[in-house]
Amino acid sequence: MFDKVLIANRGEIACRIARTAKRLGIRTVAVHSEADARAMHVSVCDEAFLIGPPAARDSYLRSDRILEAAQRAGADAIHPGYGFLSENADFAEAVEGAGLVFVGPPASAIRAMGSKSNSKAIMAAAGVPLVPGYHGESQDAEELATEAGRIGYPVLIKASAGGGGKGMRIVRDARAFADALASARREAASAFGDDRILVEKYLERPRHVEMQVFADTHGNALHLFERDCSVQRRHQKVLEEAPAPGLDGQRRRQMGSAALAAARAVNYVGAGTVEFILDATGQFFFMEMNTRLQVEHPVTEMITGIDLVEWQLRVAAGEPLPLAQDQVPLHGHAIEARIYAEDPARDFLPAIGRLDHLREPARSEHVRVDTGVREGDDISPHYDPMIAKLVCWDLDRAGALRRMRRALADYEIAGVTTNLDFLASVVTHRAFAEAHHDPGLLDTGLIERYRSELFEDRGPAGDDVIAVAALSRLLASRSRARERASRSSDPYSPWNLATGWRLNEDNHHALEFRDGERQVAVIAHFRARGYELELNGRRVFVDGEEIGDGTLAVTIDGARLLVRTVVRGNEITIFAHGRSHRLALHTREAERDAGDGGSLVSPMPGTVIGVLVRPGDVVERGARLMLVEAMKMEHTITAPGAGVVREIFFAPGDPVGEGVELLAFEPASPTHDEEGKR
Ligand code: ADP
Repeated sequence: MFDKVLIANRGEIACRIARTAKRLGIRTVAVHSEADARAMHVSVCDEAFLIGPPAARDSYLRSDRILEAAQRAGADAIHPGYGFLSENADFAEAVEGAGLVFVGPPASAIRAMGSKSNSKAIMAAAGVPLVPGYHGESQDAEELATEAGRIGYPVLIKASAGGGGKGMRIVRDARAFADALASARREAASAFGDDRILVEKYLERPRHVEMQVFADTHGNALHLFERDCSVQRRHQKVLEEAPAPGLDGQRRRQMGSAALAAARAVNYVGAGTVEFILDATGQFFFMEMNTRLQVEHPVTEMITGIDLVEWQLRVAAGEPLPLAQDQVPLHGHAIEARIYAEDPARDFLPAIGRLDHLREPARSEHVRVDTGVREGDDISPHYDPMIAKLVCWDLDRAGALRRMRRALADYEIAGVTTNLDFLASVVTHRAFAEAHHDPGLLDTGLIERYRSELFEDRGPAGDDVIAVAALSRLLASRSRARERASRSSDPYSPWNLATGWRLNEDNHHALEFRDGERQVAVIAHFRARGYELELNGRRVFVDGEEIGDGTLAVTIDGARLLVRTVVRGNEITIFAHGRSHRLALHTREAERDAGDGGSLVSPMPGTVIGVLVRPGDVVERGARLMLVEAMKMEHTITAPGAGVVREIFFAPGDPVGEGVELLAFEPASPTHDEEGKR
């Protein structure tokens, strides 16, 4: 076994690999870009090397710098994870050439499977079933159109070098073929630098089922069953599970043998995944082989109890596979959800920003969270915006689903838009939830088919959510007033009371929130215990207290509810009933709070529309520094106190993520005068 392994990756998979290495007593070496200097994967490894600027092509894709780091660290092997250089045959060769072990298959196997058309030719020769199609050399448009006609419409055009669904076009009739071909080519050329395409029969309502295979250097090969990854959006996986609902033992054996035939045909070694597409009758066809660890490998680990990374390392070190095919356990059911920083409502547009608040569900033998980020970390535009993989296991699918719903409800993220609510909608939707009774419900079109239900506008926040928001503001202003009073020379001054008493005012307080496009006004009347709120023409009694860790125990009209609130700038996120609700504060109080908090960060993802100061400017407290437009509103960034503007990080027109620092500000040390003003 190795003494030291370099992990040529970042994020959750780098952390995942380090965890197993550590357990096996192997020392770990991280590599990182400038953007990742304080990333989790760096902190969990024994050593770390900076390999370049943030952009992946200048860092995580620089095989020369990674090899140099491996040599300086004295590593004996390199684990590439997934993505980046994991399926780069030249890199695998370079690693071996440098006298290190590449934890993965031989370069020749990566090359053979690297091209969709080449791999299909090899599979055909090995007797692995293929979707009827044309995988030949010719790229002549007319010839391809003829082939499409022979295959029979609808057909699917795919980029030969494809991945991630790029360069794919469904063509339903001959007249549309030429245009679709041209656009698929353009997309393939720009995504992969290779515009070769292939054409195959487009299967209606197919399922995506893949087999996990493993082979060692002693001629042994076995499979670790299948994963169903049919729930996809734009050909990208959203949920994965094992075993596949409704797949019978005989079909599983057939698919296992086909997958092993595929692996043997390219002299495979290590972990690999053979992807199949199943038609409505359960017939299966080879799609491609991924010559690396997959993102969704944890579901296989949960049902087999096998650590796939451990097997990878053992096989790479020359050990034989520890089990025979009939010794591989299959126990229970596991489902994985990919938690992404993205906005499902805006066509899954990636989101960036700071994870201001992050609470994961409790981990147990049933709930696994694989992540590479912590609270306070940034989701940067440089890399895949995955936040975590949430994996739930139970004895059967219904149990795993129940655990998944609960775990998603317990997941709290604020600061960055995520797909958590969308995932909750999918796992609750009857088509997915009932798929073990009726596997016909599960296919790659599920999300599209139920689009209107899954993307349903959740409507306005309920009255109880608004009541919680109001209560949270009222409690905050009370504690601020108490703090002021304790500092003030006259703690009994009426100016320091927060009971709502004001000179010439009734004892009430007006609050205003913005919920999406809607304005909600709340009048709070101060009562001996709690508050009586007027909202939406109703009267609601609320009371509550902070019980630690940001949790509020709230009583609304006599019903007790535990909620969590996160306030940042003029935005408040409320986690209640297993969902999050984001409201904007829209009051003078909010403006004052923003000033008090000294937040020099962008309040929401938006655009800088004005810079009102220059580096070196000396400003007073409350001076207007910058304007940011976000969610169709203009936000003024003001000075939190007297001080000097040191540096301005953005110019008008620049997009800014949520919570991104806009400028460097150095507060002046408080003078007597300033103190006196309080
Ligand atoms: P990529 O490498 O770009 O991810 P794949 O060949 O793996 O492309 O296919 C991605 C997804 O596209 C599959 O999971 C499946 O949903 C769909 N798909 C691929 N081939 C077909 C086909 N012949 N008919 C219908 N859907 C297909």
